[in-house]
Amino acid sequence: MERQPLGRTSHIRAGRSRGTPPHSVGYATGGATALDSPVQYLKGVGPRRAEAFERLGVRTARDLLWHLPRRYEDRRRFSPIRLLSHGAAALVSGRVTGASTERRRGLVITRVLLVDDSGSAHLTWYNQPYMEKRFPVGTHLVAYGKVERRFGAVQILNPECEVVTGNDLAGMGRIVPIYPLTEGLSQQVVRNVLFGLMELTARVPDSLPASVRERCALVSLPVALRDIHFPETWEACEAARRRLVFEELFRVQLRLAARKVAAVSHPGIAFRVGEEILAEIGEMLPFELTPAQARVLEEIRADMQEPRPMHRLLQGDVGSGKTAVAAAVALAAVRNGYQAALMAPTEILAEQHFLNLERLFRPRGIVVDLLTGSGGEKDRDAVRARLRTGETGLVVGTHALIQEDVSFARLGLVIVDEQHRFGVLQRQSLWEKGHSATVPDLLVMTATPIPRTLALTLYGDLDLSVIDQLPPGRQPITTQWFPATDRDLVFEFLRDQLREGRQAYYVCPLIEESDQLYAEAAVAKAEMLRQVFPERRIGLLHGRMKTAERAATMEAFRAGEIDLLTATTVIEVGVDVPNATVMVIEDADRFGLAQLHQLRGRVGRGTHRSFCLLITDPRSNPDAPGLGDSQGLSDGQRRMKVMVETTDGFQIAEEDLKIRGPGEVYGTRQHGFDAVGQLRIANVLRDARELEEARAVAQEIIKADPELQHPEHAGLRSALAEADRASAAVVVG
Ligand code: ADP
Ligand code: MG
Repeated sequence: MERQPLGRTSHIRAGRSRGTPPHSVGYATGGATALDSPVQYLKGVGPRRAEAFERLGVRTARDLLWHLPRRYEDRRRFSPIRLLSHGAAALVSGRVTGASTERRRGLVITRVLLVDDSGSAHLTWYNQPYMEKRFPVGTHLVAYGKVERRFGAVQILNPECEVVTGNDLAGMGRIVPIYPLTEGLSQQVVRNVLFGLMELTARVPDSLPASVRERCALVSLPVALRDIHFPETWEACEAARRRLVFEELFRVQLRLAARKVAAVSHPGIAFRVGEEILAEIGEMLPFELTPAQARVLEEIRADMQEPRPMHRLLQGDVGSGKTAVAAAVALAAVRNGYQAALMAPTEILAEQHFLNLERLFRPRGIVVDLLTGSGGEKDRDAVRARLRTGETGLVVGTHALIQEDVSFARLGLVIVDEQHRFGVLQRQSLWEKGHSATVPDLLVMTATPIPRTLALTLYGDLDLSVIDQLPPGRQPITTQWFPATDRDLVFEFLRDQLREGRQAYYVCPLIEESDQLYAEAAVAKAEMLRQVFPERRIGLLHGRMKTAERAATMEAFRAGEIDLLTATTVIEVGVDVPNATVMVIEDADRFGLAQLHQLRGRVGRGTHRSFCLLITDPRSNPDAPGLGDSQGLSDGQRRMKVMVETTDGFQIAEEDLKIRGPGEVYGTRQHGFDAVGQLRIANVLRDARELEEARAVAQEIIKADPELQHPEHAGLRSALAEADRASAAVVVG
C-alpha cells in the first residue's frame, strides 16, 4: 500500500503529530494570496509556525508549494486491524478506548488501545509516557507503523499518529501526503495550509515550452504541483513526479549545454596533427599504445584539428595509461608551436608527471618546467618568466598554475589530471589563461569511474572518451583481508616479496583529526617497520614533509633505493612505480572505496603479480558487526568485501553508490556548480530515462536557439539566469 515516489524518503518519526486543530490561528489573507506572500500570513500559519517553516527553508507561498511530500499514505482504504499481519507496516484508523503506562525492566511502556470495526490493537511507545495524555479516550486516530502480532495480541510499535478532526478534507479518504516536518509543525498543519494553497498552483508559471511537454508527455507544472501534493490516483502522482524530475534534470542539462556552446563558440586553435607528429609520438613513447589508447588519441586528435576549442573528458580506470595519452597530446600541441600545461591535484603527482614527461620531452629539445606552491621563490620566478616568454614548451604544476601572476606566451592546450579533485571553476580558470583571441583546447582526465548517467550530470558539458582496457602484461592484483591479529602473516609475506627484489607500500591508519597527527602516526609506523625489517631500507612519505624531501624520497623509491615505503594517503593518486607489488593498508575499513581503489591502483603496474593486503581491527572499529545491514556487515566491512571480490573500477563505483548514495559520493560541492547537489527530486541513478530524455531535448533547444531568444524559451532563459546568479553567490560566499 505504501509507495514512496519521491525517493528521498526518510525514516518515519513517531509522535510528531500534536493533534492541534488546523485553523486555530486564523490569519486571514484579505485578498488573493500571491506566490511571494510570506507564509506567516497564510491561513493557519501565524508568526510562530512561520518560524518553524523558516527552519525548513520555507518563507513564501511559493516555497511552500515546493515543500514536497516525503511519502504518501493511502487513506482511501485502511487496513482492518483484525487482518494486520506480523512484521508489515500498516495504516489503521480507529478510536482510542483506553490507555496505560507501566514500568518494566527499567522501561516505561505506554500503550494506547485503538479500536476499529474489526478489532483492536495496542499502540506502544517506550519511554514516552506523555503519549497517554496526548491521545485521550474517544480520540479518532490514524496510526502508521510496524505491526507485531504475538499470541493473538496485536500491537503497533512507535507509530506515527495523527488525530483526525471533524471534516479533514485534506487528510481523509484520499492519498495523503506526508511531509518533512520540524519542531512546531504537525502533518495536519502543513497539509491543511498546502491544501488551502492548491488554487495558487494555477498561477505558477510553467517555464517548460509546450512543445517539450507534448513531446515528452509531461503534465503542466500547475497540474504537477497539485498532484504531487494531493493526487487523486497513484498514476497522477507518478505523472507529477515524472514532470518535476524531468524539469530538474532538464535545467541542469540546459545549463551544461549552454555552457558548452558558449565554450566552443570562442575561436579555438586548429592544430595540425599529421603523420610526422604521430610518428614522433610513437618514437617518444617507450611502448605501443593499447588499442583503447590509440582510439582515444584519435578522438582527441580529431578535436584538436577542429577550429573550435576541444572540451573533452578522458576517463580511464586506475592504471589504464592516461598519462601516455596526455604526453602524446602535449607533444602535438608543442609541435604546433604552442605551450601545453598539465595540472595535477597534488604536489607529489605533479612532481612525478614532471619527472616522467621531462624524460620524454627533454631529449626532443623541449623545455619542461614544474610549478607548484612550494620551492624557492627565485626558481618559481624563473619558471614564470619562461612561461611568459614562451621558452617553456610544457609546464606541469598544481593549483599554482592558476594563480594570477602566471601568464603564458601562447597557451594552446590545458590538461587537467584527476579532475575529481578540482572544481569546475578551477578547470575553467586555467583554461581562461589563453588570454589571446583564441582559447586553448581542454582535456580533463579522471580515473573516477562514473556510471554514464552521473557522468552526464557532472561533466555534461564535456565530450567523453573512455580508455576501457589496461596495458598488456598486467598481473591481476590479489586482495586479501586480515584481522590485525594476523599482522605477522602480512609481515612474513612482505619479507618474502622484498627478498625477491620487489618493493612495497605501507599505508598508515587514517587519522582524520589533523594532518599533524596523521604525519606523526606515519613516523611511528615507519619506526616500527624498521624494527620488524632491520635488513630493509624503509622510507617515509607524508604531507607535512618539505617538497624537496618528498620528491627525493619518491625518487629514491622509484630508483629502488627504498624497499618499503611507509606513507599516508599522499600516494593515493597517480604514483607509478612498476616494481612495487604489495600495498598494505592499515585500518583499511576507515577508508572509502574510491580511495581504496586508488591506493590499490599503485600496484599491479609492472609484470609481477601484485597484492593488496587490507588490515582491520575489529575491536577498535567503530562500526562493529551488529549495527550493519541485513547480512550483519557494517559499511566498513562491506567495503572490505567489495575490495576482495573485484578490481573492476566500475563495479566498485556502483557498490560505493549503493553504500553511500550519490550525494555523498559525488555531491562534494564543486565550486560554483554542484549539479548533483542541486537535485532535490531527481535521483541520477534511478531516473536515467528522464535524464537521457532531458539531455537530448536540452541539447536540441540550445543548438537551435543558443541564446534562448525565442519567445517560447523566455521562461527557460530567466530560470537559467537565476541559476547562474545563485551559483555565483556560492562562489563569492
Ligand atoms: P593512469 O591511467 O592511472 O594515469 P598511467 O598513465 O600512470 O595510468 O599508466 C600506468 C602504467 O602503465 C605506467 O607504468 C605506464 O608506463 C604503463 N603504460 C601505459 N600505457 C602503456 C602501454 N600502452 N603499454 C605498456 N605500458 C603502458
Ligand atoms: Mg594518472
